[in-house]
Amino acid sequence: MTAIFERILGKIEVSNAGTTEFLKHQISEISNEISKIKDSHIKIDGIKDKNVSKIYRCMECGGGLIRRKGKTGFWWGCENYPKCKQTYKDTNGKPVYK
Ligand SMILES: [Zn+2]
Repeated sequence: MTAIFERILGKIEVSNAGTTEFLKHQISEISNEISKIKDSHIKIDGIKDKNVSKIYRCMECGGGLIRRKGKTGFWWGCENYPKCKQTYKDTNGKPVYK
């Protein structure tokens, strides 16, 4: 009787292992998809930040500056906004360092 019970338990364990493997596979597939989405998000950000200057750098954090047009004219913002809120005035297309 015990032997039969153990055999049944054994079968349950085997099928459980199968389920776990299946779930693991599913989870890794989902993780892959998520990281793909994250990657594409970074790419979208990269396109958005095309205007980041490689010449002019933020004095606060060293990030590239982005020339923006505001109501009162051009100004420079930091690529690390909103982490870095440093802004610079624009004179003849160059940021003015204070
Ligand atoms: Zn900055």
